[in-house]
Amino acid sequence: MESAQREELKQIISALIAELQESLSQKTTEEFHLNKAEERVQELKRSMNRLNDEEFGLCVRCHDEIPFDRLKIFPETKVCMNCLQSE
Ligand SMILES: [Zn+2]
Repeated sequence: MESAQREELKQIISALIAELQESLSQKTTEEFHLNKAEERVQELKRSMNRLNDEEFGLCVRCHDEIPFDRLKIFPETKVCMNCLQSE
């Protein structure tokens, strides 16, 4: 993955975390969604830490590249679509 892409993902992850933390601070949010949001924040923070790893963006199962468009939507994803579907 190119460093420009890593940089872009870093921005995206920060924005997502900010957005989720915003919804976590709203008392009207249902508990189910709060738990989901909290979980995702943790996942996203972990992705942020892994962002500079050589392995980042590669599927943890088959080591194929995960499409960048998918990473932009789900930066916390660790498996490619093929592996996800064969789960
Ligand atoms: Zn895979």
